[in-house]
Amino acid sequence: METGERESKNFIETIIENDIKEGRVTTIKTRFPPEPNGYLHIGHAKSIILNSGLAEEYGGKFNLRFDDTNPTKEKSEFVESIEADVKWLGANWEDRLFFASNYFDDMYKAAVRLIERGKAYVSDMSADEIREFRGTLTEPGKDDPYSKRTVEENLKLFEEMKEGKYEDGSKVLRARIDMASPNINMRDPVIYRIAHLTHQNTGDKWCIYPMYDFAHPIEDAIEGITHSICTLEFEDHRPLYDWVLIEAGFKKTAEDTPKQIEFAKLYLTNVVTGKRYIKKLVEEGIVDGWDDPRLVSIAALRRRGFTPESLRKFVELCGISKGNSSVDYAMLEYCIREDLKLKRSRIMACLNPVKVVIDNFPEDKEEELVVVNNMENDELGTHTIKFTKEIYIDRDDFMKEPPKKYFRLYPGNEVRLMQAYYVTCTSFEEDENGEVTVIHCTYDPETKGGNSPDGRKVKGTIHWVPAPYAVKATVRLYENIVNEELGVYNEDGSLNLNPNSKTVLTDCVIEPEILKAKPYDSFQFVRQGFFAVDPKDTTDNHLVFNRIVSLKSSYKLPTNK
Ligand code: ATP
Ligand code: MG
Repeated sequence: METGERESKNFIETIIENDIKEGRVTTIKTRFPPEPNGYLHIGHAKSIILNSGLAEEYGGKFNLRFDDTNPTKEKSEFVESIEADVKWLGANWEDRLFFASNYFDDMYKAAVRLIERGKAYVSDMSADEIREFRGTLTEPGKDDPYSKRTVEENLKLFEEMKEGKYEDGSKVLRARIDMASPNINMRDPVIYRIAHLTHQNTGDKWCIYPMYDFAHPIEDAIEGITHSICTLEFEDHRPLYDWVLIEAGFKKTAEDTPKQIEFAKLYLTNVVTGKRYIKKLVEEGIVDGWDDPRLVSIAALRRRGFTPESLRKFVELCGISKGNSSVDYAMLEYCIREDLKLKRSRIMACLNPVKVVIDNFPEDKEEELVVVNNMENDELGTHTIKFTKEIYIDRDDFMKEPPKKYFRLYPGNEVRLMQAYYVTCTSFEEDENGEVTVIHCTYDPETKGGNSPDGRKVKGTIHWVPAPYAVKATVRLYENIVNEELGVYNEDGSLNLNPNSKTVLTDCVIEPEILKAKPYDSFQFVRQGFFAVDPKDTTDNHLVFNRIVSLKSSYKLPTNK
């Protein structure tokens, strides 16, 4: 973490340091508690980096805990992907990988303790009746007619619920707090429900399951979590979090740990994060899976070529706050561009190639040139490339009839071939549609390396690929999948998709240095952007690249972060 570089502490650090100073904690313990019901996205990355970063910063511990208390939605497939994502981000849970479902016994005992203390009761009201009795923001709730049951009766009924005597929905366990509380969460919330379901971890052992608001604080307490960091929508649940821990005997006062701290969720513009929408995009074949490079699941970002460092930088720039706001997708692009700029080799690739014949270059001659991998970072070394009579350049770098201020190749003009020679266009051939098929040039043997002995200057420098050694590849260019300015949703609630979000170029050619590339490796294709080897679609004899980000952007870092 680069937290040391920041001048001011965020509000969570202030709370933690105060707890240390006042002796409430010695070792900080945080956790990331995903529900294994989908893939993690960029928002989760923020939570992971925040929680693990705080543990690191204060010499504490970070746990990974699967919050698998709801047996209906969870799948073990997601457990594996989540572990891989958290590990990739660099968050280290060491040997502390936990499952909330392993605490079901403790949760049951805590519920029994509440009943014994008169703090919970079994109700026979239906979900609808409970909702009706709950009241509104302006009206208090009404007492549950079953709330007068005795401790003995409640203990017996709760045990019978556990033994499977009752049907789903016929009984619940409610906390006895205050039906007139201004906080609706405190109006005798349901803490256990009956559900005859097989759980992926505990099988058929249980037919009653704890509700999130009851289970989560207990999970934190069992693991000795000191600071339970969650998102803002749980702010109104904090009194219940503290109530459960105090009444079930896990802590004495609200100030004691575990304590819940809320921060604002991360929202990004021009992306789709909702599971419901992503699922639909996957099912309709609009994206190719949960890791399609246009999505912002962590798996998708990794596949596209983002690095953990770039995501850490991004989270740091976003900052931690209490106010909801959304962050421009361009900031994420800024972070990856900055991260890769000095770290990656620069390679010449023609995404839309056209052949150039250098007429005065001998037929059977090849010249080996040494080129630096990254002009701004010597440590990346050099590689070689062969200069040959036939080369490719990008179609964009040639015009039959150039407009003013076009300095690249056109008939009669001289340009520099990057790291090689000056060439002058003498003529071109075209097909019956007017499409250029071959460009003819002559080269000046005196300009090797890209400088002329007579000091004459050329204004354009273009990249090239030696035709006999060109490696054919597929390159995919991406744009945002939705455009916020046009509205993310249509009137019928469907997504307003950008039809140009993916462009597939199948005739690209790249210099042979690229043959060393392995899945996930990334490069700068000079003058074009950063590209990564797609791990799914690349085969032993055909490379497929995803554009991570183009080189230029008008994006400026906000100064008021
Ligand atoms: P989603 O519904 O978007 O998948 P979730 O909150 O249901 O998110 P969980 O698995 O319950 O997903 O969340 C795990 C942790 O990640 C929680 O602590 C949650 O607060 C945090 N989290 C989820 N979304 C974001 C976000 N956009 N920004 C920051 N933290 C988030
Ligand atoms: Mg959730």
